[in-house]
Amino acid sequence: MGPINTRHISGSGTPESAWGKSFATHRVPQCTVLELLADSKAVHILAPHPDDEILACGGIIQQLAQMDVFVQIVAVTDGEASHPGSSCWSPRLLAGARTAESELATRMLAPQANRIRLGLKDGHVAAEEERLTERLGELVDENDVIIVPWRMDGHPDHEAVARAGYKTSQLRLCRLLEVPIWGWHWADPEGHAFPWHRAVSIALTLEERHKKEQAIRFFRTQIESDPDTGREAVLPHFALERFRRPFEVVLR
Ligand SMILES: [Zn+2]
Repeated sequence: MGPINTRHISGSGTPESAWGKSFATHRVPQCTVLELLADSKAVHILAPHPDDEILACGGIIQQLAQMDVFVQIVAVTDGEASHPGSSCWSPRLLAGARTAESELATRMLAPQANRIRLGLKDGHVAAEEERLTERLGELVDENDVIIVPWRMDGHPDHEAVARAGYKTSQLRLCRLLEVPIWGWHWADPEGHAFPWHRAVSIALTLEERHKKEQAIRFFRTQIESDPDTGREAVLPHFALERFRRPFEVVLR
């Protein structure tokens, strides 16, 4: 703890091997998608940036697609701020490219899923939190499920989306589930911040893992370095490793 933001995202973060050890000792209960859904017939996955939905829920999306459930990906921003100062990737180009990447990935994993773009400003979601909450209120129905990033995820946009999702779930009587994304980076698995008591794991089949991996490959703007600025990929190897587990983790 300290005066600065302890959820700061920098460096290579917590190694996946550390999470692996902690998963073994914490005995996270397994859960099925059906159990998570209870009797809901619609799931809205809120993605602050195009790729968050696939990284955190690429397996869950496939399982939902197999069921008679309405799946909606809510793209809160188009992710246009991921390559600041790059002459290869202007914000306008990025918005189009990242949207296309997410559409391809979604279509592969859940062909019948709906994807809706809200077009909020990447990096500034907190400034439009109320508008986002209003918009979400129009999109969801009573008894739907809303999946948001972990409220302590560390990225300001992720936490703003989590807050808006929480408010919407309260107003519209929806079930709210949270998924860590950048939380896997900053959190210490043996520290106090990670809510192991809320965690359940959804097992993925080999085929589901393989398809998720293929879907992640569509996000070329995020997994390749920028030839103009020389900056390494937004999602380097150590970050991608956290999303190659044989399960996905949901916080209830
Ligand atoms: Zn994100």
